[in-house]
Amino acid sequence: MTFVVPAAPVVSLPVVGSTERFPVRRVYCVGRNYEEHAKEMGFTGREPPFFFLKPADAVVPVPAGETGSMPYPPLTKNLHHEIELVAAIGKGGRDIKAADALAHIWGYAVGLDMTRRDLQGEMKKQGRPWEIGKAFDQSAPTGPLVPAAQAGDIQNAAIWLQVNGADRQRSNVAKLIWNLAETIEHLSAAWELQPGDLIFTGTPEGVNAVVAGDLLVGGVDGLPELRVRIA
Ligand code: MN
Repeated sequence: MTFVVPAAPVVSLPVVGSTERFPVRRVYCVGRNYEEHAKEMGFTGREPPFFFLKPADAVVPVPAGETGSMPYPPLTKNLHHEIELVAAIGKGGRDIKAADALAHIWGYAVGLDMTRRDLQGEMKKQGRPWEIGKAFDQSAPTGPLVPAAQAGDIQNAAIWLQVNGADRQRSNVAKLIWNLAETIEHLSAAWELQPGDLIFTGTPEGVNAVVAGDLLVGGVDGLPELRVRIA
């Protein structure tokens, strides 16, 4: 087949201990999925999970042991970090029940759901879509994937982020309002999941601004840490 314009390359993530890579199809994100983060954003209580997407090519793959680079994006004066556990779907499906959901996960990575908070806030206020705040270019730096069986007790793992060596976010995956299995049940009721889909599962409290030159180092116990410099 030939195309009338150049076809976009497949975005992919490195896999720990392998030369093979994970091809990214879609990037789903869960909003306000840790209680203390929901509170800092002005919300309380357990609301049904809600989702937004980023384009696959917003993913910036960062190999293990390397420091990735993310340019400070245009239009914002308030670029926020959100450290998140990322689940990678290996087996697709629709209407997946929570009891079966974990079998659909190929592996896990650490990701940053970078957010132009000022633009997101303006869109919220006006009842408009979030894309300009969430789905911008290079908004999802992501570390290498670890196969699920090698990731340890990921549902009870510490999750944390430091900026220039100082703690900003520190919590535990156990504090997810909607856990991995429940998230997949809800998500797959709305979209048919496919191999290659990534799910950013939400961020704990402590989100805050970064500026050009900052070094972000984040982790989830059991996975390689993610290092990103804001250029
Ligand atoms: Mn997020």
